[in-house]
Amino acid sequence: MVLLSGGQDSTTCLAWALKRFARVHTLAIDYGQRHRIELEAASEIARMAGVAHALVPCDSFRALGGNALTGDEAVTAGVRAENQLPNTFVPGRNLIFLTLAAAFAYQRGSANLVTGVCETDYSGYPDCRDETMTALQESLRRGMDAPFVIHTPLMRLSKADTVRLAQDLGALPLLAHSHTCYNGLIPPCGACPACQLRAKGFAEAGIADPLLERLARA
Ligand code: ZN
Repeated sequence: MVLLSGGQDSTTCLAWALKRFARVHTLAIDYGQRHRIELEAASEIARMAGVAHALVPCDSFRALGGNALTGDEAVTAGVRAENQLPNTFVPGRNLIFLTLAAAFAYQRGSANLVTGVCETDYSGYPDCRDETMTALQESLRRGMDAPFVIHTPLMRLSKADTVRLAQDLGALPLLAHSHTCYNGLIPPCGACPACQLRAKGFAEAGIADPLLERLARA
């Protein structure tokens, strides 16, 4: 079960899972994200990869408030003084997503959950850390009495390493359809933190971003 947001990292994880598992299913979550266009990217990428794909609604985050991805606040660079995190941090997001993915996998007889979280190069979100994933894996095992494994193939990789891994896995054609921009723009705005991190990764890997190449041809 691959959590597929439609972004670069989860798309690379899908390619990783396709090499390792005979049966792969993807799950995207509609959490009221301002870059909802990524959900269309997720379904297109799943279609290209030939895997079954599901979209699950989870619309509580907007009601909880307080962040730029599910509220009206603009996405800004830099961190907030109170928690030293960007205003794109959605508290609890990955915890809830993996719990939903585990519940979905449970009903389909699967125990392998794959997520693109990464603690190396990812804004310092505490729910992307390895220790969080290890603890959550244990909670899911106990809470559903099932042998869940949370696979995090990107956990220790830099953004450039992730780009190289995508190339090695033959995932660049899928990445040509991925969506990263927090502002939900196509072509990507190039200025938001997500766009900048993506551009930095491709630049450091010395590989052209297949998304930009595809858009330039269109
Ligand atoms: Zn952007």
